[in-house]
Amino acid sequence: MDPHLVIIGGGVAGLSAGIYARMNGFTTTIVEMHDIPGGQCTAWVRHGYHFDHCLHWLVGTHEGTFHTIWKELGALEPDTRIVDHAVHTRVLAPDGTEFLVYTDIDRWEAYLLEIAPEDEKAIRRMIHDMRGTHTLEQFEDAPGMRSIVDYIKALYHSGGALYTLGKHMHKSCRAYFDELGFTSPRLRLYFDNLYGDLHFSAGAFLMMLTWMSKKNAGYPIGGSLPFAMRLTKRYKELGGELLLKHRVRSIRVEHGKAVGVELEDDRFLPADHVIGAADAHSTLHGMLQGRYLTPRMREAFATWETFTPLVHVCFGIDREVPVQHATTTVLAAGERVGRTTLRTGFNVLNYGFDPTLAPLARPPSSSASIRLGRSGRTWTVRTIRRRNGSYWRP
Ligand SMILES: Cc1cc2nc3c(=O)[nH]c(=O)nc-3n(C[C@H](O)[C@H](O)[C@H](O)COP(=O)(O)OP(=O)(O)OC[C@H]3O[C@@H](n4cnc5c(N)ncnc54)[C@H](O)[C@@H]3O)c2cc1C
Repeated sequence: MDPHLVIIGGGVAGLSAGIYARMNGFTTTIVEMHDIPGGQCTAWVRHGYHFDHCLHWLVGTHEGTFHTIWKELGALEPDTRIVDHAVHTRVLAPDGTEFLVYTDIDRWEAYLLEIAPEDEKAIRRMIHDMRGTHTLEQFEDAPGMRSIVDYIKALYHSGGALYTLGKHMHKSCRAYFDELGFTSPRLRLYFDNLYGDLHFSAGAFLMMLTWMSKKNAGYPIGGSLPFAMRLTKRYKELGGELLLKHRVRSIRVEHGKAVGVELEDDRFLPADHVIGAADAHSTLHGMLQGRYLTPRMREAFATWETFTPLVHVCFGIDREVPVQHATTTVLAAGERVGRTTLRTGFNVLNYGFDPTLAPLARPPSSSASIRLGRSGRTWTVRTIRRRNGSYWRP
């Protein structure tokens, strides 16, 4: 009999694990507590408008290891259209001036030199670092499955990129920009507000623009929900079982080995192997009751700063809103929305470049949203009034 796998969580990770497990001869059950799969990779549909919460750029839309993986998983199909924006973000400063982040790094270099010639040295060094990560390619196999030959090949092809990333991966963008020594007040304002946040690593910043420059981090038309549904379709076609609206309460461990999961409704699902693809906190603290936490993990959960919350407000607009730039970042530090003081500002996302997100019957219409990014405090949702008059409580 084929070994049986229970996978906790039906997000992109759980669905991907399920697909590869089915391709490798396991029988599988994915247990997902929500009523649709996809996890964070999702959208809400209302009156024909898709309000997309997630995918804006996806690494591997054109080539490389991730591209192969997305194709194997069915997430990118031969007819999935990809949009590569020329401008990643347009930034508006309080004084009305504009700053553009081009996805083509040669073009961006010329633009930066034009607006801040005094920072030529720093600009050239930053662009040099970006070019330095160009050859980076991900491993095809997971750690533990890689041979020494794989490592030698990686060093040969991506040695320079690994060196550049090694230097900057554990550095914040702010530390990196300080090190580069930008002197132009305009550049400092834009860079610090866009990427200077503590949470954004310099290595991620360099890689993001390099991938975009290679046109390998585009937007798949249709966005997050169809992306998740394509994964689900592939999983089901391969014969995988998907159990929706079931919450895993705990992972049963016997003699140091996971033997199955206990559900909220008291059912027990036995398994030869269990894969946890829910978030780390609920898996380690909840489902495993904190028994396997190392001191370092405890410290991390107790002391690491959490990602500052995003509040996302979406609109369906019954007319065409021309898209000059898909994302505009408005710098508005200190301004208030309700009782929240914005730390840096907000983003306006115009999804008009994707006609599938608006009702088919009304082609000239757009879906747009505003993300109040990086608010200074955590928002607590107490109740939300539903249209039928009832309340939703988190
Ligand atoms: C606002 C936003 C924008 C983003 N933009 C991008 C982007 O442009 N490009 C990009 O590549 N990535 C983006 N991401 C990141 C991307 O969405 C995530 O990395 C990815 O979806 C995570 O997938 P996952 O399967 O690991 O986790 P999740 O999607 O969190 O899936 C975990 C699943 O486990 C389920 N679960 C949890 N506990 C239990 C339980 N006890 N029992 C059963 N089920 C359980 C949850 O319901 C959930 O479905 C964005 C994320 C956010 C929030």
